Amino acid sequence: MKQSELFTKTRREAPKDEVSKNAELLIRAGYIHKEMAGAYDFLPLGLRVLNKIVGIIREEMNVLGGQEVYMTALQDRTSWEATDRWDEKKVDIWFKTKLQNETELGLAFTHEEPLTSLMKDHVRSYKDLPSSIYQFQNKFRNETRAKSGILRGREFLMKDMYSFNVDEETHNDFYEKAKIAYKIIYDRLGIGGDTIITFSSGGTFSKYSHEFQTLCEAGEDIVYVDMEKKLAVNREVLNDEVLNDLGLKKENLKECKAIEVGNIFSLGTKFSSALGLNFKDKTGISKPVIMGCYGIGPTRVMGTIAEIWSDDKGLVWPESVAPFSIHLVALFGADGKVEKVASELYRHLSSKGIEVLYDDRQCSAGEKFSDADLIGIPWRYVVSSKTLEADAVEVKDRKTGNVSMKKIQSL
Ligand code: ATP
Ligand code: MG
Repeated sequence: MKQSELFTKTRREAPKDEVSKNAELLIRAGYIHKEMAGAYDFLPLGLRVLNKIVGIIREEMNVLGGQEVYMTALQDRTSWEATDRWDEKKVDIWFKTKLQNETELGLAFTHEEPLTSLMKDHVRSYKDLPSSIYQFQNKFRNETRAKSGILRGREFLMKDMYSFNVDEETHNDFYEKAKIAYKIIYDRLGIGGDTIITFSSGGTFSKYSHEFQTLCEAGEDIVYVDMEKKLAVNREVLNDEVLNDLGLKKENLKECKAIEVGNIFSLGTKFSSALGLNFKDKTGISKPVIMGCYGIGPTRVMGTIAEIWSDDKGLVWPESVAPFSIHLVALFGADGKVEKVASELYRHLSSKGIEVLYDDRQCSAGEKFSDADLIGIPWRYVVSSKTLEADAVEVKDRKTGNVSMKKIQSL
């Protein structure tokens, strides 16, 4: 893509009411636009990053055997009444609206109820199980605090997977596989090193659920981490019995701020019993399906990466999620030679399938360099009359700042 054609501009200042680092940087660099607190638009650069995050998560969900769907956000009250989650006294984050005929609808803050109901059309016997189903879908939550940029949206993207099994044993087996898949996902997203599996309270079916918490000052959660074991517990379960159970010692735990980037939960038969999702086992006996749910917030993940991978100059994207791999910066001279070489190089790299943002704008070198630092593409290639004297480009690694020369013929 040619930067002269990119409709977004970088800016020196974020909006005055924006207090979070992730949104401030992402707005200044032209990745997102703030509509209002908790509601952001994703612009071309931002959408490219978000799509890469989604792509990585999708690949790992498919490895797990997940089947992708896309469900409506509009919710009819019936199934939510069956689980006692329609009443706003029980769930205080609902956004609700009305049809012309006054029928009340909800905007989904999660999808256990509608998917469990949907599955009743498809699950008859043990032969129809196991299955795992996921989607990427906007969730709506009337959050009281929305001051953390895209870490906490009132509308945000969620990957939610739900598993359906005949018994506890096969459920647990899938749950453990999902845990491993999550670890792989955070590694691939470049935040694996800071992301700690955290024990939190479970339901009636299992003692614990698990959160994936990325250690970060911008986080709204507090976790207690054993750094050596790379294990943590959250506040809910910080007690002697649990620590004993997990082989953790209070004196080895460090209190840290963290961002919950994912959450997996054994649901047991909570939803299947309430909504009547049953199957016939081998002996013909009807039993409720065992369920689990597995969430990740791709928009929150993007904000987390921006918090962790940034410096005083701007964003520093890991290669796996960067909007482009190479930022090709041309410093035009008087003779037109730089323009010719840079344009050829842009076409050549693009034809090899490399994603290049080509800064072909007529502006100063200083402006181009500070924009490149702010936008944060992993590799900056500079073509100037000076580099052409050596038939080379100057290559700068955004992460380390290391600079080297590369011969143009070798590219
Ligand atoms: P939190 O405790 O942060 O409010 P939660 O425990 O309610 O989150 P889940 O319902 O488990 O979150 O949602 C699954 C995932 O969706 C979370 O792990 C997080 O990554 C993401 N998520 C949840 N709420 C938001 C939000 N308001 N904005 C962006 N992402 C979110
Ligand atoms: Mg939580």
